[in-house]
Amino acid sequence: MRGFVYDQPSARVIFGAGAFDRLAEEVKRLGASRALVLATPEQRKDADEAARRLGSLSAGVFAEAVMHVPIETARQAREVARRCDADCCVAIGGGSTVGLGKAIALESGLAIIAVPTTYAGSEMTPIYGLTEGGVKKTGRDRKVLPKTVIYDPELTLTLPPRIAGPSGMNAIAHCVEGLYAPDANPIISLFAAEGIRALGRALPAVVREPGNIEARSDALYGAWLAGTVLGAVGIGIHHKLCHTLGGTFNLPHAEVHTVILPHAMVFNRDAAPEAMRTIADALGVENAAQGIYDLAVAIGAPVALKDIGMPEDGLERAAELATQNPYANPRPVDHAGVLELLRNAYAGLRPDQTPGLE
Ligand code: NAD
Repeated sequence: MRGFVYDQPSARVIFGAGAFDRLAEEVKRLGASRALVLATPEQRKDADEAARRLGSLSAGVFAEAVMHVPIETARQAREVARRCDADCCVAIGGGSTVGLGKAIALESGLAIIAVPTTYAGSEMTPIYGLTEGGVKKTGRDRKVLPKTVIYDPELTLTLPPRIAGPSGMNAIAHCVEGLYAPDANPIISLFAAEGIRALGRALPAVVREPGNIEARSDALYGAWLAGTVLGAVGIGIHHKLCHTLGGTFNLPHAEVHTVILPHAMVFNRDAAPEAMRTIADALGVENAAQGIYDLAVAIGAPVALKDIGMPEDGLERAAELATQNPYANPRPVDHAGVLELLRNAYAGLRPDQTPGLE
């Protein structure tokens, strides 16, 4: 076995149908008494319900979270937190809402209690992002890692299949890259394999029967594992490329992950055979990249960049941007290879149809 470092920041996790009932207790457990509840405008109702449950422990609701944490929204939220003298934040929603909580914590150190309602996994990572002047910058800081995470699958029952599917594929992408990360370690690899297994099994059921609480529980369990993986180890070409495409061409986050993942896996296939074997085993298929592509098709998620708003004449520029700064990846990242990957993803080819592969 290769040597490794295991240095995992931990959060308290409360998991299960009905776990949301414990919100007030968990706020008190942190020694807090003035919680600012965060949400997107679409989830205002969830935020109001959280505030109602908190009663006198609620300091107010800020339901203005939007994708990629624009700095203006972050400033506004920080100001609201100051004005209402908040001593913690309750972030109820997906990665956008948790991201807003992180922006507040980054400046003030306020504790976050996350109540995730998608499968993005942000609640388990010390990674934050802020968008200023159209450019998203990310960083790592342990003080933005939520102190407590309440996973209640009942809150995900309203997540529509068209958001749930890609969101779950986003989580699988964390697991895939965790398996071949340069700082991978055996514990995190177990999480990654189990995360793929849980999500691979649950997602088809989630989109077929959105009210299936068992499938929702399985998917959320997989998302927890996936978020832990992303928080623990470095990322490779897949996440870098998705970041570039999302930021430069304003493509929807989870959908970009869904489309790029099988192609990033083809790119890395020969340089990370053990990871590919683990992924294939977890999905119960012969070929890992094809298994991921077929899963996306099975859940009705997009498989082509051309279908999610990517301009064809932007592929060259995307390849340039993605290869500007070197980063760790099993296979060295070169312009020609990335351009080929992007062209295949643009067309939405199944891995066995990509040129040069059997
Ligand atoms: P999101 O948070 O933007 O949510 C998408 C939409 O779904 C929103 O309108 C939201 O209100 C709605 N929604 C969420 N849960 C719902 C539910 N249960 N029922 C009905 N509607 C619901 O999407 P996301 O994919 O969770 O997050 C994407 C963002 O998170 C991106 O900005 C991405 O960069 C970031 N992210 C960060 C990390 C990290 O570690 N920092 C990890 C993953 C994603």
